[in-house]
Amino acid sequence: MASGGKLKISKNPGEVIAVIRRVLAENGRDYIWHYVFATVCLLAIAATTAFSAWIMRNVIDDIFYRQRADLVALIAFAVAAAFVVRGLATYGQAVTLAKVGNNLVARYQQRLFEHLLKLDLAFYSETRSSHLAAQINQNVVGIRDLLGMTLTSVARDAVSLVGLVAVMILQDPMLAMIGLLIGPPLVYTVNKLMRRLRRVTRESVDVNSRLIGAMQEATQGIAIVKAFTMEDQLSAKMAKLVADAEYRSNKIARVSERLTPIAEMLAGFAIAGVIAYAGYRATSGIQPPGSIFAFITALLLAYDPARRLARVQVGLERSLVNARMIYEVLDIEPQQGDAPGAGKLSVPAGDVRFEGVSFAYPGGERVLDDVTFDAEAGRTTAIVGASGAGKSTLLTLLERFYDLDAGRITIDGTDIASVTKHSLRQAMAYVTQHPYLFEGTIRDNIRYGRPDASNAEVEEAARRAQAEDFILQQPQGYDTPLGENGITLSGGQRQRLSLARAILRNAPILLLDEATSALDTQSEARVQQALDEVMKGRTTIVIAHRLSTVIDAGHIVVLEHGRVVEEGTHAALMAAPSGVYARFHSVQSERGLGLVDDVKAPAQPEETTADVRADRRKA
Ligand code: ADP
Repeated sequence: MASGGKLKISKNPGEVIAVIRRVLAENGRDYIWHYVFATVCLLAIAATTAFSAWIMRNVIDDIFYRQRADLVALIAFAVAAAFVVRGLATYGQAVTLAKVGNNLVARYQQRLFEHLLKLDLAFYSETRSSHLAAQINQNVVGIRDLLGMTLTSVARDAVSLVGLVAVMILQDPMLAMIGLLIGPPLVYTVNKLMRRLRRVTRESVDVNSRLIGAMQEATQGIAIVKAFTMEDQLSAKMAKLVADAEYRSNKIARVSERLTPIAEMLAGFAIAGVIAYAGYRATSGIQPPGSIFAFITALLLAYDPARRLARVQVGLERSLVNARMIYEVLDIEPQQGDAPGAGKLSVPAGDVRFEGVSFAYPGGERVLDDVTFDAEAGRTTAIVGASGAGKSTLLTLLERFYDLDAGRITIDGTDIASVTKHSLRQAMAYVTQHPYLFEGTIRDNIRYGRPDASNAEVEEAARRAQAEDFILQQPQGYDTPLGENGITLSGGQRQRLSLARAILRNAPILLLDEATSALDTQSEARVQQALDEVMKGRTTIVIAHRLSTVIDAGHIVVLEHGRVVEEGTHAALMAAPSGVYARFHSVQSERGLGLVDDVKAPAQPEETTADVRADRRKA
């Protein structure tokens, strides 16, 4: 999603209506009876408000002026009844609208989450996920008020105002004219303020999201923050964001509160004008004072809904910004859908073939160039190459996280572009370098491999992944909750958990990005055992970082700058002593259990380190 600066700000009131209409069209039908009920309540509030002004005339004229004792009880009863109805109606509409509002929030949260899960990786590589989450949080709450506010302002305040104005005109048309003179300047001011407010609101949501996002990132990466003693730098950066957010909140307050003194002043003029004119006329003293009292009551009562109507614009404006920002996310189309009529992938054997595959990341340089190789069923194929050669990209393409620029990838002869992504991904288990553990228990985390697996199957998978002993040592065994990122587990343990997940998935094809971080010898041996277990009988494509994995692989593909430069078995590749692989191997052997990644192919430019790659990615 774009940041605030890039987003358009509409000056067009038609768009405001369009947003409300869209929110209504998408949700209105489900709430229709709630809205009908709330509207009835709001109309009752408006009617009783106007009635309480109207009755003033009878109070003054009949009770005090004409002294009609017979009417006292009736008028008193009518006033009491009006207030009872008003109280009940106020309660009814408030509860109903709150309920609808909360349900709307829940709906949009669910919708947004489902939509976010559908978006492709390309979207996420351009978006900071922590900002996105913060932005969504702020905006979803804003949308809650949109419909409730519109309805309240129209059905209660606008109708009250119309009713009260009607009372004023009926009681005294001339005075009404004077009182209503403030209308035009008020409307003009409100419109002018709104335009400024819209811009500031958007900026504020954006700054606040950056702020919340930065906090989230700092706490997530707390170990790195401390290790690199980044505290002071981060604090300084945060101080800027905090100050910026504070400044913008103050600006919103200044702009939106500016309305209050202006409205007060205008109202003061109107009331003073009415009193002056009425007082001047009273000197002629023919008319009973009831209608003047009714008029002034109506005028004073009208002030409240009028002020609220002017203010509701302010609130609406904020909600509209929120609603619009939500729709900007919801309107992002997932880019690679399934081909029309895509069938389910069936994998009788598990032969994977890359045929002339070329690929560049959106807006980037070519990463893979005419890559062709076979990963035969049931065999382990190791991908070897320097950092940045395109090894991980191969796996992401096989998962169809991105579409190819040229060539095709087949599984048992079927082009993966012609089947549903769901069935494709179900046929594979993907074990990444940095196993991600989700919020939940250990058991939940393994079960993500296959949701319908029984407890016994989960435990069996853990045993086979050499994970059971450390799981049983946890305070609650399989039901131990894992913190964010599974902070309580060691690297080797996390790897074994993710391997258990893969074993449970029992998919015919295994994609493995071997961890580069060195484990202690004992851990290493356990992970190796777990790996042997996972790879058994599956087509495995492994990005190999360890010499032993490479030597044991049935087939080795050597990648350099996105091209396949050599392939074959370990023995065959070693037979060509001047080849890239043989050079890798000799350096590796000298270093003992080093990482292939640490060794650059001679032709590789010196600066292609992980950091530079990260920078390029950002650029
Ligand atoms: P390897 O796994 O061999 O280290 P990668 O496949 O990760 O290599 O990366 C190959 C190239 O693709 C690198 O130059 C890297 O900068 C680029 N790259 C990787 N991921 C992305 C991405 N999400 N967006 C843009 N470029 C990327």
